Amino acid sequence: MTGSRRAIVAPVAGTTRDSLARPVVWQGSSFELFDTGGLYGASQDPLHALVVEQGRRAITDADLLVMLVDGREGLVSGDERIARELRESGRPILLAINKTDDKRAQNSMDFYRLGFEPVFEVSAEHGHGVAELLDEIVKRIGAEPPHELAAEANREVRVAIVGRPNVGKSSLVNRLLRAQRVLVSDMPGTTRDAIDVPLTWHRRRFRIVDTAGMRRPGRVASGGKVEMVSVSLAKEAIADADVVLLMIDASEGPADQDAAIGGEVDRAGRGIVIVVNKWDLVKARDTNVAKGFDDELRRKMRFLDYAPILHISALTGERASKVLETIDKVAAARAARVPTPALNKFVESITATNPPVSPGSRHVRILYAAQIGTAPPSFVFFTNVATTFHFSYERFLVNQLREKFGFVGSPIRIQVRRRKARNAPRQKN
Ligand code: GDP
Repeated sequence: MTGSRRAIVAPVAGTTRDSLARPVVWQGSSFELFDTGGLYGASQDPLHALVVEQGRRAITDADLLVMLVDGREGLVSGDERIARELRESGRPILLAINKTDDKRAQNSMDFYRLGFEPVFEVSAEHGHGVAELLDEIVKRIGAEPPHELAAEANREVRVAIVGRPNVGKSSLVNRLLRAQRVLVSDMPGTTRDAIDVPLTWHRRRFRIVDTAGMRRPGRVASGGKVEMVSVSLAKEAIADADVVLLMIDASEGPADQDAAIGGEVDRAGRGIVIVVNKWDLVKARDTNVAKGFDDELRRKMRFLDYAPILHISALTGERASKVLETIDKVAAARAARVPTPALNKFVESITATNPPVSPGSRHVRILYAAQIGTAPPSFVFFTNVATTFHFSYERFLVNQLREKFGFVGSPIRIQVRRRKARNAPRQKN
């Protein structure tokens, strides 16, 4: 249904352990598909209870349920129990009989006894009947326009979480969900799949993107220890996001690679929040630890002086509630537009107190400014002569813009241009 083979398909019962949420676009409509990891039946899997819990949650969150049964096995007593439980949810239910391509699938008539209508005979592996099932799904849930067409106003904020392995990225996702949709455990490879995790907070919509990427190790060192995620891998996630959470382990401090990733976020014009995780491990040591830690962090990442720093514990939940709040602020700042009159007042006061230094004989004056873009906010300063600003003056302007208008966590771009010649007659020399 998603046109991908993202879920791990293998002939081993219980292979799909996570609840996977994936977007499906069909005939101009879109919806989100949750794949529960198999709800019922005995399992030796130590994570089975968690899988069942996730599945239950998926059922209560869903607008429509598709019950999938095995046409080769035929109706089994477990199916009737599942049907009963699904009915209790009060959600509309479609029944799909899978593996109907198989010669041995001869018992499909039995399934009609479950009393669902309509019944779809499909072959997930070969794709038979899937189009008809999708048609019915979009008909039932009503046409929601695909994401690209959705109004910019309540646009979903795409969030990438980057940082070294074991810094606590999955734990944070879990914490944000308050539901264990992503499984965390010390078993290697527990989170096996690419998942975009949707979240809602105060009616704002977020999507944690590329959670598979965040689990991808850069490479495995000779000792078998997983090294930190490489900058090039982080780049993909950064390019895909509006706001990046750069996670740093409080007990280890920032690494060179963290600074490199931060630089990439800045260059890409994405919003950034520095999340110092595992704060529970260091805070007991001394009360000034936060100040000392942040000073060191700022020193190593001077160019990210605009990034808010949060000290959290994904494990205990301490201050984790600040995370979405801060992402929301940063996303808003990145999309903000300064009204032109306010901007020109700003120019007036700047030029009165701190005009640009003139490199040549003619005085450089800033005449006015305009915001030419958002995400990130971009400004043009128009001057009387063609010039560029000194790096330090550019920095000064950026800092002043921040001070006056906010822009927390967002890079700001500025350009300088000579004011276009007016139609006035030319002055004689
Ligand atoms: P990821 O590789 O970045 O996704 O890291 P995980 O979320 O899998 O976490 C790695 C390990 O760090 C797990 O054993 C977690 O329980 C632990 N961990 C995560 N967050 C915290 C935290 O805030 N405090 C402490 N003490 N441990 C944490």
